[in-house]
Amino acid sequence: MSIEKCNSIILATMPYRESSILMYLFTRKHGRIHGLAKGIRTSDRRGVPVERGYLIEHMIYFKPHRDLHQVTDCHIREHYPAIRGNLEKTAVRDVLFDLMLGGIKDTDPHPELFDYLRRYLSHLDETACEGSVLLLSLSKILFGLAGHLGFGIDFGRCVACGKGFGETIAVRLTIDRGMLRCRDCPPAQAKTDRLLPGSAAAYFARPEASQSREIPRLTDKESSALLHCACDYCRHHLEIHRRLESLSFIEHLFAASPQPGNGGGDDS
Ligand SMILES: [Zn+2]
Repeated sequence: MSIEKCNSIILATMPYRESSILMYLFTRKHGRIHGLAKGIRTSDRRGVPVERGYLIEHMIYFKPHRDLHQVTDCHIREHYPAIRGNLEKTAVRDVLFDLMLGGIKDTDPHPELFDYLRRYLSHLDETACEGSVLLLSLSKILFGLAGHLGFGIDFGRCVACGKGFGETIAVRLTIDRGMLRCRDCPPAQAKTDRLLPGSAAAYFARPEASQSREIPRLTDKESSALLHCACDYCRHHLEIHRRLESLSFIEHLFAASPQPGNGGGDDS
């Protein structure tokens, strides 16, 4: 057993007995782990109001090959108030967290993914809340998540003809093979093929730093289709079989409250 100081992002919490909390944590050093914080729900000095989505610093009594690890001395490092206070941002974050909960099954270290996730949460916290932009940047993050876990896609060029994609053409993603092609390049359309706007492929190909700039202007319907595509891609490659409630919720949410400046060309 080792006792370590640790930074973690809380992916999910569950009350346990009178005053304790079970937490699914994504840690920099141990990947996804299951922790028990005893006595944390009390109103005395030991009580810390931890919630899903917080970045915490804590001590962990880590036992390799065990399922549950004891967590003590929790301190909240970031609580991302603008995500917490906004329904759309919370919904976007929850899709990402649900895919991480289903898709990361090991306790191997994922330091780059941890830093990537942290940067995204800060970005989401600071960004303006505009429906289509939130959905597109979430899609980019999900393809990035798949990439960090070994299933990256080259969004830069066609695997059949080797050419780069123009922003105005449609490109074809074969989900089960992780291949991107021009719409009309061989082989013929497969069952898991999805068409993406070329502007979206170009946006996904750009480095992460440009994530808030140059976001293509797509309709809510196109952005929603892209998010579904990214979720299907993650579910296929990360072997997630259960239904994503958070994705259904996001659909309802964005269908119910169209954001100003979007919705043009939506013929539904
Ligand atoms: Zn091609």
